[in-house]
Amino acid sequence: MTGLSEEQRMMRQSCRDFVDDVVIPFIRGNWQREWDMRPAARLPPEILEGAQKVGIRTLGVPEEFGGLELEKGTETQTFAIIAEEIARGDSGLSDKLVQIWKVSVLLRNLAPRHLQERWFPRIVEDPQFLLAHCLTEPRGASDRWLPYNVPEAAMQTRAVKRNGEWVINGRKQFISNGYDAGLYVVYANTNPAVGMMQGTSSFLVPRDTPGLTVARCNETIGCRFMNNGELVFEDMRVPEDHLLVEGDALGKAGVYFRPGKIIQAAKNLGVGVRCFEVTADYVQNYVQGGRILIKHQAVALRLAEMATRIEAVRALLGRASAAVDADAGDADTLCNMAKVYTSEEIMKVAQHCLELHGGNGVMLDFGVEKLFRDAAIFLHMDATVDISKMKIVKSMFPHTAGKYAGPEA
Ligand SMILES: Cc1cc2nc3c(=O)[nH]c(=O)nc-3n(C[C@H](O)[C@H](O)[C@H](O)COP(=O)(O)OP(=O)(O)OC[C@H]3O[C@@H](n4cnc5c(N)ncnc54)[C@H](O)[C@@H]3O)c2cc1C
Repeated sequence: MTGLSEEQRMMRQSCRDFVDDVVIPFIRGNWQREWDMRPAARLPPEILEGAQKVGIRTLGVPEEFGGLELEKGTETQTFAIIAEEIARGDSGLSDKLVQIWKVSVLLRNLAPRHLQERWFPRIVEDPQFLLAHCLTEPRGASDRWLPYNVPEAAMQTRAVKRNGEWVINGRKQFISNGYDAGLYVVYANTNPAVGMMQGTSSFLVPRDTPGLTVARCNETIGCRFMNNGELVFEDMRVPEDHLLVEGDALGKAGVYFRPGKIIQAAKNLGVGVRCFEVTADYVQNYVQGGRILIKHQAVALRLAEMATRIEAVRALLGRASAAVDADAGDADTLCNMAKVYTSEEIMKVAQHCLELHGGNGVMLDFGVEKLFRDAAIFLHMDATVDISKMKIVKSMFPHTAGKYAGPEA
C-alpha cells in the first residue's frame, strides 16, 4: 500500500508479524477456548503481554507516561491501520486493546493532570490492565445522539454531590471490557431539569470503588475474547476530583467517538480481510466437481464481489479517518458513514466466506464460522445501523431531520 509513513509501515509490519506468528496460531489451535464459561480463562495472559512487547497496547497514552504517542496529524489513520491488523487475527483481542487507546485519548484531553499522573503509569506497567467506557443503560443507548435532547430521554444513572463526594446510583449494560477493566469512565445525569446534552457528567471510576459491582459477563455470539460486562452502582462514592466533565460530557466525548467510529470500522474491515484470505486460500485448494472451486465461475464471481466490497470499505474508511485527523467539518458525518457502511458490507463479505466454505463453513473446529459471528457483532456495537443512519441525516440536515419529532414546544 502506498501513502504510509515510515512509522505506520513499521508498526503495521510488527503488528502483522505478531498476528501471524502468535494470534492466528493461538486461535486456530485453541478454538474451544472462546467457549470457556470462565471469562478470565479465555485469553491467556501471554497474548496481551505480546501486544505490550510490540508496543501496540498503549497507543494514545502520552509518551511522558511511558505510552506510545503517535504522530498527531495522522493518529486516527494509524489507529485504523493497527486496529485492522489485530482484528484480522482476532476482533475480540482488538476490542480489548482499542478501548485502551480510545479511553486514553479521552483522559489525555479531559482528565486533570494529577489523575493522568496516577493512572497512565498503571495502565502502562500492567499488560493485563484494561479500560472501559460506560454509557449504555437498559433504557438508553445510541439513540441518545438523536435529536431527543429532552429531560425524559436523560440517563437513568444519577450522580449527586454530597459531602465532597459524588454519589452514583444506576447501572450500565453491554460495556466492552466491563467485566475485567481496572478503570472505568462512567456517564451519569447530574441535572434532571435539563436535556441530556447539558445534564450529563462523566467520572473516572477505579474498579475497587465502594458501591461498584461487576454484575455479570455477557456471553456474546462473537468477539468473545473481549469480556463484555454489566455494572451496578449502589451509592457508589467517587471522590470529587474524579469528575471529568460536568454537564456537557456527551458533547466533550467527541474526542472519544470520532476516532472510536473509525476504529470500529477498521476492526470490522480486519474481519473482512481475514474472510477474504481464508476464502481465497480455500477456493484455490478445495476440489469439487473435479476442479478447484475457483474454476467454477459462480465461485469466482463471489470472490470478486468480496474483494470489491472490501476495497470500497477501505476507501471510505481512509477518507473518513483523514477527515478526523484534519478536524474537517464533515468528519462526524463521515465517521458514522464509515462505521455503518462497513458493518453492512463486511457482513455480506462474511456471508460469502461462510457459503463458499460449504459445510466446513459451519463447523466450529474449522474456524470460519467465527468470522461470521464476529462480523455480526459490528451491526450493534457503537450504535445500531438505523441509529447510525439517523445520525448521518441529522448531521446533514440539522434544522429538519435534526429536530425532535415530538410535539412542538
Ligand atoms: C459487543 C458490544 C460492545 C459494546 N460496548 C459498549 C461500550 O463499551 N460502552 C457502551 O456504553 N455501550 C456499549 N455497547 C452498547 C451499544 O452501543 C448498544 O448496544 C447500541 O448502542 C444499541 O443499543 P441497545 O442495545 O440498547 O439497542 P436498542 O436501543 O434497544 O435498539 C433496539 C432496536 O431499536 C432501534 N431503536 C432504538 N431506539 C430508537 C429510536 N429512538 N428510533 C428508532 N429506532 C430506535 C435500534 O436501531 C435497534 O434496531 C456495546 C454493544 C455491544 C453489542
